[in-house]
Amino acid sequence: MSIKQNLNKILSTLPQEVALVAVTKTKPISDIMEAYNAGQRVFGENKIQEMVEKYEQLPKDIEWHMIGHVQRNKVKYMASFVSLIHGIDNFKLLKEINKQAEKHHRIIDCLLQIKIASEDSKFGMTTQEASNILRSEEFSGLKHINITGVMGMATFTDDKAQVKKEFQLLKHTFNELKTISTNNCELKTISMGMSDDYHLAIDCGSTMIRVGSSIFGERNYST
Ligand SMILES: *Cc1c(COP(=O)(O)O)cnc(C)c1O
Repeated sequence: MSIKQNLNKILSTLPQEVALVAVTKTKPISDIMEAYNAGQRVFGENKIQEMVEKYEQLPKDIEWHMIGHVQRNKVKYMASFVSLIHGIDNFKLLKEINKQAEKHHRIIDCLLQIKIASEDSKFGMTTQEASNILRSEEFSGLKHINITGVMGMATFTDDKAQVKKEFQLLKHTFNELKTISTNNCELKTISMGMSDDYHLAIDCGSTMIRVGSSIFGERNYST
């Protein structure tokens, strides 16, 4: 099946309130253009450098999402154009995004990454840490960021029961944090679900799925 067919197949099964981020990491410009020409406008990358290179070559009405782990010293390269940063896992990073967004007279939307997986390798904060940030005075002074939701990555496993438990944990965290509303925080997005588990994620309350290989095919990291 073509990229366009894969895309349309996924879109046809998505509830209206669920957004699709087409994950293009490692994929060439020609593949992205195929999805673009089929109508897709929201794309996700997990490396800032790669996202910047693609941003420069592609149409400017694309919404770029940074879905990977963010190094603070690289925020400046994407601050002029990134539309949503999914992986906020500490307060210092938020402060840096705020600083760079201010330089560009922007307000950048961000999601707090919550650690839901049992694997140590996954990034993210606890519900308590997220809550502490959102309730802090220093946070309310950050005028150039807007926290619009949470993001999580489930454990890499075939055990659907475990993945479901982790998605439910993220939904629960979302509900808890949603009670906090400030001038720069209004939670509406739950970013969870990838190619192998997005149906389950949607059943558990996802409003934004991040799908790569089911649209563009398997990634080949050796080339
Ligand atoms: C690569 C990636 C995805 C997409 O993974 P697929 O299994 O190819 O759909 C989703 N989220 C993040 C954070 C990723 O790095």
